[in-house]
Order: sequence, then structure tokens, then C-alpha cells
Amino acid sequence: MSNHVVVVTGAGSGIGRATAELFAERGAKVVAVDVAPDGLEKLAALPGVVTYVGDVAAESTSHDMVELALSRFGGLSAVVLNAGIGGAGPLDSPGAIERFDYVLAVNVRGVALGIRAALPALRAEGGGSIVVTSSVSGLRGDPSTWAYNASKAAVVNLVRGVAIDYAVENIRVNAIAPGLTATAMTSGVISHPTLGPAVIGRIPLGRSADPREQAEVVWFLTSPAASYITGVTIPVDGGLSAN
Ligand code: NAD
Repeated sequence: MSNHVVVVTGAGSGIGRATAELFAERGAKVVAVDVAPDGLEKLAALPGVVTYVGDVAAESTSHDMVELALSRFGGLSAVVLNAGIGGAGPLDSPGAIERFDYVLAVNVRGVALGIRAALPALRAEGGGSIVVTSSVSGLRGDPSTWAYNASKAAVVNLVRGVAIDYAVENIRVNAIAPGLTATAMTSGVISHPTLGPAVIGRIPLGRSADPREQAEVVWFLTSPAASYITGVTIPVDGGLSAN
């Protein structure tokens, strides 16, 4: 893993940030991408990390983040397509379909653009690993988040198809499906006096995840230890999807 060069999207906060930090701590070179510059500032101070501000739904971001890996670090071995946003509100609320379009643009189009941009660079290395952040909400029904659920289910099957298409080139494509993880996205739920305990009460391990527990699985999927794994989505959810 000494020549590991990885692009991580949504790296300014939460799971993406924990992933970028864990990879950097272990000696990888990291291109940390986020639409919001604030969270990237601390990461930029870490050795082996360069940052890029951009929206993953824009084609230019996927192109530029791969170019940055090549120009600064001389290659690319893994891409972690983690940037994601939450729901669109009730389906019958004003503007819900427009918000749905943007959820799909970030959570699904952003993933497709990222994979397409990375393929030539991974091919040039003789293969590589792509990890997408889906969600347990893409594997089961969750109330009030229909748009998010649809987007996260879409990437589960996108990963399967792309994994088959590029397996012959030794490019592995997998996803993680986090359950409740303590990040900015979920702080309102976790700290809510009644909702928090109700949601955590459904999780067999009885707690939310630390973002680093997600990052460890991403690390594994990009490592040689996962060399025979492609096309799967691994729930990292404290047993929720088994329940
Ligand atoms: P977070 O809000 O802490 O971090 C998400 C990051 O993505 C933010 O820094 C945000 O600025 C960035 N981002 C959002 N839209 C972007 C865009 N268009 N382009 C580039 N960057 C963008 O949330 P998180 O919980 O760390 O979420 C990371 C991923 O994990 C998401 O895909 C989310 O859907 C998924 N996930 C989270 C949980 C959870 O419980 N936290 C559970 C399942 C899945």
C-alpha cells in the first residue's frame, strides 16, 4: 500500500473526512474533494494530502480530481465516491421533484462521472479499486427519505453492473452501506430526545457508528486483502439490515 494514491469525495466532513485522514495516516497520497471549502482546510495541512473544491455533479470536478492525482502523485490506485446529500422532503411537497433531481445528480450522476473519469488512470496502473458510499437506506425501506433511498439503491446496482464490465481489467468496484453514523448529516437525529433513542434502539449493536468504522472498511476494500471482492455492497450498520 506504499504507493497508494486515492481520491476521496465528500472529504470535508464525516465519513469522507475520516477516510481521507485514515488513508493519509497510513501513508497514502490523498486528493480530498468537497463542494464546501471549510472542511478541507484542516485536511490540507496533513502530509500527502491535496484538496480540490468542486461539486461532484459537475463533469469538470471528476476530470480535475483525477488529473490532480496524476499531476501531483503520478498515478491513481483507488477512488472513494462518498459525497452525498440527504432527502427531498415529502414527495407531495412543493419543489420535491426538483430537489429529487439534485439528489440524483449528486448521489448517482456524481458516482457515474467519478467512475468514468477514473477508468483510464486505473487501467494505466493495471487495475485498481473503486468504492462507493451507498447506505443501508438503499437496501431497505426507510420512512420519509424516498429520494435518498432511491439514489442509494441506484448505486448498489450501478456498482454491480460496472464491476462486471471492468472486472476483466482488474478494476474492482464495490460499495459500503453505512447505517447510522455520527456525522453532520445525522447529528439532528442522534441528538433528538425521542427520535435518537428510537433509531438507535433498532440497531442490534445498540449504538451509532464512528465515521472511522466506515473508513476502515473502505481501506479494506481498496487493499490487496480484498483482491477477490467486486460488485458487492457491504452493510456497515451494526446489524440493522440483518434485523
Ligand atoms: P456529511 O454531511 O458529514 O459529509 C458529506 C460531505 O459531502 C460534506 O462535506 C459535503 O460538503 C460533501 N458534499 C455534499 N454534496 C457534495 C457535492 N455535490 N460535491 C462534493 N461534495 C459534496 O455526511 P456523511 O454522513 O459523512 O455522508 C457521507 C456519505 O455517507 C454520503 O454519501 C451519505 O449519504 C452516506 N451515508 C451516511 C450515513 C450516516 O449515517 N451518516 C449513513 C448512510 C450513508
